[in-house]
Amino acid sequence: MYIVRRWSVRNARLLEATYDAFERFLVAMHPLWNAIGYSRLERPVAAVEKWVKSFFFDCQMCGQCSLSSTGMSCPMNCPKQLRNGPCGGVRANGNCEVKPEMRCVWVEAWEGSRRMKNGDAIHSVQAAVDFSLAGRSYWLVTARERYEQQHALKETRA
Ligand code: SF4
Repeated sequence: MYIVRRWSVRNARLLEATYDAFERFLVAMHPLWNAIGYSRLERPVAAVEKWVKSFFFDCQMCGQCSLSSTGMSCPMNCPKQLRNGPCGGVRANGNCEVKPEMRCVWVEAWEGSRRMKNGDAIHSVQAAVDFSLAGRSYWLVTARERYEQQHALKETRA
């Protein structure tokens, strides 16, 4: 929903803190997710993720979420689906050239990023969208990958 999507950008700092806490929970629960089986969890978790993120961000479940790096403005809502900043067609009022009634997703992204603690992540170059990952739960990917990264780090230090 467009109104909620814009609210999310205005409250990017709050959502960043909320997601950070949620991510810590996801990672801490990795042993449980592993015991149940990530493949078994995929469908139900992806369904919940889709519902929540559709409500807040008009998420299209690209499977490679970049909200933390894009000011809580989903780049998949850009009609050109640009992942690394706006095209040259942003209107003088900050709206999209393709959808004149809509604020440019990247203007929103920049404004949202300025409200976030780690908003400078917007300067990182994003990989091109891999459409074979569409529909996949990014929450589960994050839980597994972050857990494995933390585990590997602990082994290196030991
Ligand atoms: S970047 Fe992808 S996963 Fe994240 S909100 Fe947008 S469509 Fe959904």
